[in-house]
Amino acid sequence: MVRDVIIIGSGGAGYTAAIYAARANLQPLLFEGFQPGGQLTITSEVENYPGFESAVDGPELMTQMRKQALRFKTEMIASTVTKVDFSQRPFKIEADNGENYQAKTLIISTGATAMLLGIESESRLMGKGVSACATCDGFFFRDQEIVVVGGGDTAMEEATFLTKFASKVTVVHRRDELRASKIMQQKAFDNPKIDFIWDTVVEEVLGDDSVTGVRLKNIKTNETQDFPCQGLFIAIGHKPNTAFLAGQIKTDDVGYIITEKSSMATNIPGVFACGDAQDSVYRQAVTAAGTGCMAAIDAERFLQAHE
Ligand code: NDP
Repeated sequence: MVRDVIIIGSGGAGYTAAIYAARANLQPLLFEGFQPGGQLTITSEVENYPGFESAVDGPELMTQMRKQALRFKTEMIASTVTKVDFSQRPFKIEADNGENYQAKTLIISTGATAMLLGIESESRLMGKGVSACATCDGFFFRDQEIVVVGGGDTAMEEATFLTKFASKVTVVHRRDELRASKIMQQKAFDNPKIDFIWDTVVEEVLGDDSVTGVRLKNIKTNETQDFPCQGLFIAIGHKPNTAFLAGQIKTDDVGYIITEKSSMATNIPGVFACGDAQDSVYRQAVTAAGTGCMAAIDAERFLQAHE
């Protein structure tokens, strides 16, 4: 069976694309992937998604979006797409359930994954003081001390944002100079609540049920110290989940899918991208949903124009 639309990925972008495509009678098929609901399922309260006066739980928001997509007869498959073939039409899709699928248009909404340090204590205390999203979790650290790891624009932006809540923010960076743009660096240097610790890495997150500090190691002197804090924000970059496309679609150096200006069209006619797989700048739940809506409308118009 050749589908009009197949959506790959199930975060805010994918579910919103499904709602719009389904309401356009395109009977979309959506692959939920390895993390059904996407990155919002690993956050606690979402206070900046419009329509919820007193916040909404991240997993609950995704459950509601999923149910809304199902109500309009989206077909969901609990599998991950392993391969796509853009060289033939309809496009061919292989999933890890061993089945092959075909589609006239594709919407790629596979999201991104925050890069983590890869230490055991970090995953154990994730959501209990460790976070990879200041906009999502910063509010919970009012008047507390926070460590931010990273030296790029994300780290500077998150550190600056966190000073709205925290009593003190300490940026821990593995080198003695930042990668961030000069303007973002200056903003952080000028902020009296932000301190820097250079040439240093986080070896361990301390605490049993919540973060009480971090063990830091100076990589030039090998000296270690236990540094007290209640929050640890990892800001060492995100990786878009686009490796399965294996160089078949135009991306930037990091792997973000490049779309046309004012549209979600990729360089392959009939293939659209949305959400964090395509957006390296805003990366918000509401922008993911917005671009998911745009991708579905673009797919519908593409089908109309070609049939
Ligand atoms: P970047 O890749 O630019 O920076 C990642 C930082 O994390 C680097 O300083 C890097 O150190 C450090 N790092 C990486 N791995 C580790 C590790 N294992 N342990 C410790 N530190 C580590 O990622 P960003 O997310 O900051 O930015 C991604 C892109 O998005 C950039 O192009 C950026 O300009 C853009 N962006 C723009 C914003 C804006 O303009 N408002 C806001 C946010 C992002 P090192 O420097 O030593 O490599």
